[in-house]
Amino acid sequence: MKEIILIKNGELALKGLNRSTFEDILIKNIRRRLKPLGEFEYRKEQSTVCVIPADSSVDMDEASARVGRVFGIACYSRALMVEKNMEEILKYTPEYLSSQLKNASTFKVEGKRADKKFPLTSPELSALTGAAVLEKFPHLKVDVKNPEVLITIEIREKNAFIRGNQTKGAGGMPTGTAGKAAVLISGGIDSPVAAYMMAKRGLSLIAVHFASPPYTSPQAEEKVHKLLREVSKYSGNITLFTVGFTEIQEQIRGNCPEDLFTLVMRRFMMRIAQRIACKEDCHALITGESLGQVASQTLLALGCTDSVVDMPVFRPLIGLDKDEIISVSRKIDTFDISIEPFEDCCTVFTPKHPKTKPQQSVLENAEKLLDVDALVEKALENTKVMNICF
Ligand code: ATP
Ligand code: MG
Repeated sequence: MKEIILIKNGELALKGLNRSTFEDILIKNIRRRLKPLGEFEYRKEQSTVCVIPADSSVDMDEASARVGRVFGIACYSRALMVEKNMEEILKYTPEYLSSQLKNASTFKVEGKRADKKFPLTSPELSALTGAAVLEKFPHLKVDVKNPEVLITIEIREKNAFIRGNQTKGAGGMPTGTAGKAAVLISGGIDSPVAAYMMAKRGLSLIAVHFASPPYTSPQAEEKVHKLLREVSKYSGNITLFTVGFTEIQEQIRGNCPEDLFTLVMRRFMMRIAQRIACKEDCHALITGESLGQVASQTLLALGCTDSVVDMPVFRPLIGLDKDEIISVSRKIDTFDISIEPFEDCCTVFTPKHPKTKPQQSVLENAEKLLDVDALVEKALENTKVMNICF
């Protein structure tokens, strides 16, 4: 007898011939997250992955919390793996699920006999187990339509599994199955949410952050590290490139019309991020922009930002309101870090009246006053690399 974790794949089931590859990547991702907790055996069975700890010293609370953050999992549950005989099943079911059962008022047992050699049919298995549960918890009623606790008894090839209600998984696609992209990460609320949302669709991430010391502080950089550490609990490890941006911002301030500061700066960010992305084998950029949220995020402004790169730019928050973004940021534990008050380079030289309907040609003219290529090269040389692991 042993406690294990049963995992149901999400959209993986739809992937036809690729399914097995997707499943292997999912298992690799789970394995990486659980490795620090001890040894586990992984068994693939139909659309379920059984995660079986080698011994009882493993912290199963932590293991299931970690599983809950792995993308590609529709739902999961802890389960008790017992011998395939009724004596064990009837003895352990009420005992193992007692904490769920004692606070519930209704339940149902669903027997699933995958091994057709097992002497009882699925309905017989359900009826007998239900009776054993009622004997220990006489306050319960059976509700076959909408039970508070759904007990599932699965008879598999080697063992029987007893489980209660399942927990919703992180959903999405296993990280790494959709390729790799570079997220432009600030210390704000939006970009960590954007990173999380695209990792959820199966992208591996690298991150690019622009820092302008001494206008921005070491704490602002540390804040970005903390944010990425939270995101990495879902996405896996993230390589962070911190680009020295001071000279570019000073040049913009010294040479360009004030109402264009932010947009010229955003265009530099995109150019530099694309260069890093290409070198790191990424095929898209990700930003935390949302239509109309600030002057640099109007339709025309976003067009002017996009036009300096040729990679796709993913903006998963484009149609979300701020409160919707905040609710995701709370869910992934980045909100409290994001609101720590350290200045980002965007807020350093903010124009009083930024252009909301910029013209491409006006921006190009303003940039003629700068040596764009040389500034980009210099910034790339002035870049620090660090690995963010959770
Ligand atoms: P956020 O909350 O993500 O900072 P925001 O609403 O404050 O977003 P802006 O400051 O205009 O919006 O930034 C828009 C996007 O540009 C950010 O979501 C992020 O992807 C990118 N960005 C902004 N500042 C930086 C920075 N210092 N380093 C890297 N990327 C940045
Ligand atoms: Mg910002």
